[in-house]
Amino acid sequence: ADPATSESPVRSRLVVLAGPTAVGKGTVAACVREERPDIWISVSATTRPPRPGEQEGVHYHFVSEAEFDRLVETDGLLEWAVVHGRHRYGTPRGPVEERLDAGEPALLELDLQGARQVRRAMPDALMCFLAPPSFEELERRLVGRGTEGPEERERRLRTAREELAAEAEFDLTIVNTDVRAACRELIDLFDGPARA
Ligand code: 5GP
Repeated sequence: ADPATSESPVRSRLVVLAGPTAVGKGTVAACVREERPDIWISVSATTRPPRPGEQEGVHYHFVSEAEFDRLVETDGLLEWAVVHGRHRYGTPRGPVEERLDAGEPALLELDLQGARQVRRAMPDALMCFLAPPSFEELERRLVGRGTEGPEERERRLRTAREELAAEAEFDLTIVNTDVRAACRELIDLFDGPARA
């Protein structure tokens, strides 16, 4: 057997990227989108209002509370969670199953609660934890992003501290010191023999 492949259990068609808030999941995912357009990235539904520059169907499907209720009731979501104690986010089930049925690579970018649900629902998914170089660096990034007010920022930092402890639940960790490097490490998880 080829040692390069037989010793690499960490490969899959379905990769879940999770990690604390502001660790840069979105930036790393955007890099994957640019470098490997063949890797499909799930577009979540959310009740959060769009931030400036965010486009419907690209960054999220922005839905009303009633629409989200309906998605939950019809089992239209693979997982969903209330994130940061406020808005609901969920992964539409149909598009993910379509990609996997077609044998195509799929990436899910989720919060920790969502990642836990997907691990239960799809045991073959490869669970990847994106970690910051340090908590201080995470705090710096969260402040630097400037998209949240001080109260929301505090809430997210509290969540982030808890989330950092979850690393042990994952199949592997990528430390996001450099976006390009993290992006390439993530892409490598898709190549080679399929696991899911
Ligand atoms: P933001 O509001 O900054 O876009 O996202 C807040 C958090 O929601 C991030 O940690 C992001 O990973 C998470 N998130 C985005 N989409 C989903 C989803 O479909 N399901 C779950 N569980 N979390 C999501």
